[in-house]
Amino acid sequence: MQLDHATTEQLRQWEAELSSQYEAFRASGLTLDLTRGKPSAEQLDLSNALDGILGGDYAAGEVDTRNYGGLEGIAEARALFASVLDAQPEEVLAAGNSSLTLMHQTALLDLHFGAGSAAGDWPGWAAEARASGGRIKFLAPVPGYDRHFGICEHLGIELLPVPLTDQGPDMDAVEAAVQADPLIKGIWCVPRFSNPTGIVYSADTVARLARLARLAGDHFRVFYDNAYAVHAFSEDAPELASLLDCCRREDTLDSVYLFGSTSKITLAGAGVAFMAASPANLTRLRRHMGFAQIGPDKVNQLRHVRFLRDLDGIHAHMARHAELLRPRFELVLDKLRQNLAGLGEWTEPKGGYFVSFDTRPGLAATVVRMAAEAGVALTPAGATWPHGHDPEDRNIRIAPTVPTLAEIDQAMEVFVTCVKLASVRQALQG
Ligand code: PLP
Repeated sequence: MQLDHATTEQLRQWEAELSSQYEAFRASGLTLDLTRGKPSAEQLDLSNALDGILGGDYAAGEVDTRNYGGLEGIAEARALFASVLDAQPEEVLAAGNSSLTLMHQTALLDLHFGAGSAAGDWPGWAAEARASGGRIKFLAPVPGYDRHFGICEHLGIELLPVPLTDQGPDMDAVEAAVQADPLIKGIWCVPRFSNPTGIVYSADTVARLARLARLAGDHFRVFYDNAYAVHAFSEDAPELASLLDCCRREDTLDSVYLFGSTSKITLAGAGVAFMAASPANLTRLRRHMGFAQIGPDKVNQLRHVRFLRDLDGIHAHMARHAELLRPRFELVLDKLRQNLAGLGEWTEPKGGYFVSFDTRPGLAATVVRMAAEAGVALTPAGATWPHGHDPEDRNIRIAPTVPTLAEIDQAMEVFVTCVKLASVRQALQG
């Protein structure tokens, strides 16, 4: 469909045909969902062996995992998850079931209590902001993950969008921003299979993130959420350079927090979250967390260690996820390629949970509304931008992990019809 060279008569004819297809979908009473990125029940079933795996043996070395204590997690879990984050076991904290909780706690700690660093302690970002009469800000590569933005919105941290390219955040823009404004204290990153575009940060981007603290000052932190570290579904998926190795070379270890979890490896509601940070940051964080809990769920950590064993075990397990996910993503991408060339742009991820689609400017909210009226739920337009506001109203996140192939087929038929119809109607008005 070549909209830009079409005559008004041709556009009217397309409008009539697409309207009748759309009305037929509306009348057929569909209820399909391409919204949140959750594992399907089939994916969750891959980890059913967690149940009962301990067989009454709760010992992790000398530790009785059933009891209180051990805030940093059991040694076996720290070693296992260090391998996922490319960190040393002593740099890792194994926690409860949610990495978002760790991100929230870490941001709160730095905002109100400061954090240890090679340069000494400081009273926290909020005190810095009060002293200078400004507001603390984070850089938000867009499109990005709505719950990251939600943490900042909840804590009163202002979000400054920077473009996310196919190499990662636009580092020229990032470096210029942190040099211009000392109250920019953080940046959100999803470095491998980003949510929602699925891109993998280049080695140059990772190296520049590791150097950022030199421009941004001692209290700047990279929030490096490697939620999809091992979630490739394509054999030629790019690897990620090691941020911590770069930081070691640059002597900037204090400036990064790495996060991950098994939410999309084992059980989304009952996995293990973990993070890596410098010794100074981990000590302060551990002290802070000690006011909120006596210890994490070590029984669940031990179950995960027995089930996943080591990094090879994790990769073997993820290969089984990939078999379920690959056909779903291929189907989504085939539908886009066959129907929407020239009517939008999209990413072709090799891992992760999402496809990011950009409509022609000004159409995302319309497409999402039309799809909803035809029974297909999509993530709200704007959700991938701070405060839910996509200034060009273009981005839509497609999450195909939960529906069956037959459901995706139907949902994507509705989606492409909505995009075509909205685009034709816009062209007729313009
Ligand atoms: N980080 C990213 C980038 C995500 O996409 C998600 C879930 O969709 C999470 C974190 C949630 O992590 P958790 O379940 O460990 O809290």
